[in-house]
Amino acid sequence: MADGSEPKLDTSPHVSDEVRKTTCYMCACRCGIDVHLRAGPDGRMKVRYIEGNRDHPVNRGVLCAKGAAGIMQHYSPARLMKPLKRTGPRGSGEFREIEWDEALAIATDWLEPIRRDDPRKLAFFTGRDQSQSLTSWWAQQYGTPNYAAHGGFCSVNMAAAGIYTLGGSFWEFGSPDWERTRLFMIFGVAEDHDSNPIKIGIGKLKTNGAKVIGVNPVRTGYNAVADEWVGITPGTDGLFILAMVHELLRTGHVDLDYLCRWTNAPWLIDRNPGASFGLFVRDGDGKALVWDRATNRAQPFDKPGLKPALKGDFQTPDGGRATPVFELMAQKYLEPEYSPDAVAERCGIPAATIKRLAAELADVAFNQAIEIDQPWTDFRGERHETFIGRPVSFHAMRGISAHSNGFQTCRALHILQILLGAVECPGGFRFKPPYPKPVEAHPTPHCDVTADCPLNGPHLGFPRSPDDLALAEDGSPARIDKAFTWENPLSVHGLMHMVISNAAARDPYGIEVLFMYMANMAWNSSMNVAGVMEMLTAKDESGEYKIPKIIYSDAYSSEMVAYADLVLPDTTYLERHDCISLLDRPICEADAVADAIRWPVVEPATQAEGRDVRGFQSVLIDLGARLGLPGFVDGEGKAKYRDYADYMVNHERRPGIGPLAGWRGKDGDQFGRGEPNPEQLDRYIENGGFWMAHLPEEARFFKPFNAAYQEWAVGMGFFDKPQPFVFQLYVEPMRKFQLAAEGHGERQPPDHLRDRIKASFDPLAVWWEPFEQAAVDTSEYPLHAITQRPAAMYHSWGTQNAWLRQIHGQNPLYVHGSVMEAHGLKDGDWAYVISHHGRIKVPVARNDALNPHTVWTWNAIGKREGAWAVDPKAPEAQKGFLLNHLMHELLPPRGDGLRWSNSDPITGQAAWYDLRVRIEKAEPGAEVSEPRFGRQKSPVGQGPDRVAYGEGWE
Ligand code: SF4
Repeated sequence: MADGSEPKLDTSPHVSDEVRKTTCYMCACRCGIDVHLRAGPDGRMKVRYIEGNRDHPVNRGVLCAKGAAGIMQHYSPARLMKPLKRTGPRGSGEFREIEWDEALAIATDWLEPIRRDDPRKLAFFTGRDQSQSLTSWWAQQYGTPNYAAHGGFCSVNMAAAGIYTLGGSFWEFGSPDWERTRLFMIFGVAEDHDSNPIKIGIGKLKTNGAKVIGVNPVRTGYNAVADEWVGITPGTDGLFILAMVHELLRTGHVDLDYLCRWTNAPWLIDRNPGASFGLFVRDGDGKALVWDRATNRAQPFDKPGLKPALKGDFQTPDGGRATPVFELMAQKYLEPEYSPDAVAERCGIPAATIKRLAAELADVAFNQAIEIDQPWTDFRGERHETFIGRPVSFHAMRGISAHSNGFQTCRALHILQILLGAVECPGGFRFKPPYPKPVEAHPTPHCDVTADCPLNGPHLGFPRSPDDLALAEDGSPARIDKAFTWENPLSVHGLMHMVISNAAARDPYGIEVLFMYMANMAWNSSMNVAGVMEMLTAKDESGEYKIPKIIYSDAYSSEMVAYADLVLPDTTYLERHDCISLLDRPICEADAVADAIRWPVVEPATQAEGRDVRGFQSVLIDLGARLGLPGFVDGEGKAKYRDYADYMVNHERRPGIGPLAGWRGKDGDQFGRGEPNPEQLDRYIENGGFWMAHLPEEARFFKPFNAAYQEWAVGMGFFDKPQPFVFQLYVEPMRKFQLAAEGHGERQPPDHLRDRIKASFDPLAVWWEPFEQAAVDTSEYPLHAITQRPAAMYHSWGTQNAWLRQIHGQNPLYVHGSVMEAHGLKDGDWAYVISHHGRIKVPVARNDALNPHTVWTWNAIGKREGAWAVDPKAPEAQKGFLLNHLMHELLPPRGDGLRWSNSDPITGQAAWYDLRVRIEKAEPGAEVSEPRFGRQKSPVGQGPDRVAYGEGWE
């Protein structure tokens, strides 16, 4: 100080009056948070600040920028205030505020008659919600087959490939063994799933001296801190992985013991021409057979003491010929087309690098193997004295998934993991309970509709053969999104991105009500955005909307709100109950099981304050009761659940199994199974908002094969009986689709799809050129265009958040220096980006940490003028942009009279990352991004210049 005195600092300021612990929802990671509250001048508790919960199994106290900015999400000016009924034309944004009674009466009036008449007329799709075990059950009780969440355009390739191969996927379903891994390879990861655990994990690896290799066309985020960055060309990950598989097989670096015991590598494949060619050879009980070298005969794979053959040509009990999976696999991947030299140029990775990386993987897996002294017994009854570990682990997400070859690419990565013996072992990738679960533990899809009745089973599932497709009797699609049809048989998450176009085209049939939750389809959650806006407002000859009624629920005034006829305003995540349920997906870590809740840590604003919103899940339960849906009403037709909190405690999916696994039973002393406990939520709140139980020591590794784990899982209610299984290098259900395409079986694909199914449904992973790349003239569109998820944003929610906007207020197109120079561009210039479908105008910036054939930008920063209460002159609305305008859900015409889908032919996953473009320098002029769609009228208007939440606090 100028007078020489010491400044007076308050080192212990009065931060909060109370701390309440709940679960973050600023991205999909589900971290535990401590919400500090302080009484405001009006006496009401207000959020003062948010920090990480140090005891929480997901984040251990770590909080990211998004999580801390949850306070601005809660006090956002973009929050919807009251239910709304459209008064102007659809899309105009003109609404009348209504009371909840009227809103729920309208929804009931719309939904009740179509359930009595034809429940298919409701299409109910949800976006990034975390309550899918409730929403799917509600839709099932309603009786419509038209339900899914948003996985079809997110990462269904990853989910499906994982379940069919390993019984679980990357994502948040498992994690690398961060303590023991010595080499970690990460592919195309979105920083909104398993986000803080990966950051914490990479920190541990760095501390332990392990090596991190990032494989991504762009060096940002995790790739920026990787020890080695592999700047791969988009869409070639599968080829790169299979070249490493080639190298491992060529050099003999595979874990033969692991393959024999824990995988279907020795299972015999029928080689006799006919309807069973390529299927597993099975005994009379349906058990797959292996060739036992000890007895020189075929034996069931799960018999103890076998010495299975991995190669050879054998005579089966019925006199036919059979070959082990491993031999077919080795023959395939040792072909020269998979050699590093053959793939290097296409992948943009030197052959020597591919060979070195394969050698590094092998060296760490086999020369630095781990052994943990812990006796355990496998499902065959064989005793082992140790757990043997391969300290190599992988993680991957949307970057390798959102391609038209994404399913097989994800399969290829799992094959690589398995060959190294690096799944479920110490040091490798390990699942979080209740995963892994074999395909057999999952349902098949259901689509049988009866008026006024529930659907005949769960909508979504894992087809085992063409018999499980969702087809009507005449072979037409049973679902509005055409999921589970011959065009995309394994669309296990549905196809949300096709709902609006199919409904507007009334193909395969028209619907009456489109009901959506948290899905910004009129902006960043669609391809062909302008086309989708047109479809949402399209009218037929009689002047009626082709999609007659749209109900939309969201907490914020997104671009989609203007296209709704009825808006049901949701609460923020700090104001409501929520259930992070094991019926949906796991949280936690591989050594434990956990679930969690959200609860109203802040009292919802009241009607008197002019904001009257309700948690969507409670609204759905209310609607279920008003509609008299089975399960939502008691024997007298009265509402069974008061609200979502009541449902979370009292709903039983099976006797003793409910949404929450902790503190079950009358006295709250049971876990996993047990009757409802009326005080269950209190116990969660006392425990910091979560429940966790550790695995017994003997059950910690090799879960699918480990008898102790299986027994523990049955006790927890994951299964009703042990479900041991082995990893599937060769996926037999895929061969069944190929057989159909070859003409075998009752259900036959249309002729125009036969060749595609034969080629794409290879039961061993293969690679093909991304469809858009094959469909366009690549000399006209020489560049790949992709997006990256910024660490500070979770889709369009983040770009209206007063704090997060200061990190990413706009998004230039990042262009490699060589391309900038070739086009005479410098930082800050504007360029046109042109695809086969459209043209956008964007600002550019140089970025050399980039695959030179690729341009990229941050995801979902651009906003439509007027939406989200953001100033229409703000950079997000003027300079921000979306690549979505360049994409179309269909590929360009290729002269055969058909428009083929821009998606993976196996799962239907939208191929966002297949986009091909060229750029052209824009002449100096107005520096605004294009296309422009005019200012949207928002029911919440424009926010204030200054968002203040602590007025009146000292
Ligand atoms: S990683 Fe996601 S869930 Fe965790 S604190 Fe950040 S925003 Fe919240």
